Amino acid sequence: MKSLPSSITKFAALCVCAVLYMNTVKAQTPEPVVSVVFAGDIMLEGGPQRAIRRGRDPFAGVAHLFKGADIRLGNLECVVATVGSVEPEKPNVFRVHPRALNHVRRHFDAVGLANNHSGDYGPQAFAQMLALLKQSGLGYYGGGHDLKEAHRPLILERQGIRIAILGYNEFQPRNFEADHDRPGVAWSEDEQVVRDIQDARRVWNADVVIPVMHWGWEEPMANARQRALARLMIDAGADAVMAVIRTNCKTRINTRANLFFIVWATLCLKVFQTR
Ligand SMILES: [Zn+2]
Repeated sequence: MKSLPSSITKFAALCVCAVLYMNTVKAQTPEPVVSVVFAGDIMLEGGPQRAIRRGRDPFAGVAHLFKGADIRLGNLECVVATVGSVEPEKPNVFRVHPRALNHVRRHFDAVGLANNHSGDYGPQAFAQMLALLKQSGLGYYGGGHDLKEAHRPLILERQGIRIAILGYNEFQPRNFEADHDRPGVAWSEDEQVVRDIQDARRVWNADVVIPVMHWGWEEPMANARQRALARLMIDAGADAVMAVIRTNCKTRINTRANLFFIVWATLCLKVFQTR
């Protein structure tokens, strides 16, 4: 998503965007219910980082939104590292000290890395962030040590349901993209996205597949490209497409595989049409 002005980023640690519940449509027998919270951009530089230095939890004000959810996910819109150098000519770059992960870990199970800021300090810093995430016990999706890992789904299993989360960036710059021998983020090339979704079921035995997109210029509605890609993802087997877009929301019901999704969106979310 577009970089925010500093006056906003100073205060904006987090944009909470959605709560998504999964349940079965069979009313006769009790079926597992899994709740998933998707948060928007988590940018911890500036005010949040100062709060952490003073021993405060920057998520304290929104912690209740995540409490009790089975799966808590958010888009980590900054690099967590102590190394690296600033990407030349990039207007806004964000890097936070690894101590921030203690707070992220307290409220989230995994974070999305496919965005336009996780590469702000280059591949060395990105690789260090991957190691720090692993060390802290946080899962991640949409990024990896190489192209293969960046496109591999994060599998989260709750109550017997295997949920695959994929993440993609489609917001410039593209030079943060992972390659066969370079760490980075996953970019949403159509053919690759289709293969990833299909592999999530065939190779990773997922019951539910949810790609998460980082795209758009804070438009009020999805543009033609976004709608076409979302449709492609659903046709490839995705159960829902989650995306970070400011201010506007849509809710659709999905009855695929005896599951339905009730999406309650507040900010930064658009859920595209599902079957
Ligand atoms: Zn962004």
